[in-house]
Amino acid sequence: MAHTISVDGATYTVSKILCMARNYAEHAKELGGVIPKEPVYFLKPPSCLLPGGGEIRMPTGIGRVDVETELAVILGKGGHDLSPAEAMGLVAGYAVFFDITGRDLQSTARKEGQPWSAAKGYDTFGPISAAAPASRIPDPHNLPIRVTVSGVVRQDSNTKHMVFRIPETLAAISRVMSLEPGDILATGTPEGVWPLVPGDVLEGAIPGVGTLRCTVAARKP
Ligand code: MG
Repeated sequence: MAHTISVDGATYTVSKILCMARNYAEHAKELGGVIPKEPVYFLKPPSCLLPGGGEIRMPTGIGRVDVETELAVILGKGGHDLSPAEAMGLVAGYAVFFDITGRDLQSTARKEGQPWSAAKGYDTFGPISAAAPASRIPDPHNLPIRVTVSGVVRQDSNTKHMVFRIPETLAAISRVMSLEPGDILATGTPEGVWPLVPGDVLEGAIPGVGTLRCTVAARKP
């Protein structure tokens, strides 16, 4: 069943979830990666969405699973080959997103030159909050972003630290693939990505945008 997302009274079917990699310098450093020279992104399947939060089902036997807390951009219009200013005109709203990541699967895939699809794509690996309309967020590049895991602050940063900003990123992607209404762009995670264990409670917050609460449960493969 296709997931939908609502912004300001309009409902869109989600066709793709674009995610930026290494878009905060301190996060790139903590994983031992270099800061990219142009936007780097990958796709998560829409089937991984967990709208409104809820229970993240963490597969047993895949090793470390991390939370990455991110500002998500939700598109209300489509287009291709856009300028940065045109690309910003597609944005309908913003939300809090957890890019849940099988870190060990990702590390192994990276070493072996394989794609990250499994590491990023399990069902429930894409919790997203209710969306705030873009009209309420005049500057998406200056928002505090944080998460607590079982009551302890693990990520606490600001979207001003993004390496590549939303207009240039959307424009770059639009030169490769058409953007469509209901597309989601997760703008990358700041430092402090944290390994989850069953029983954890995650509370993410981007003041002005929203909050996102999840619990973690073990799931047999
Ligand atoms: Mg991420």
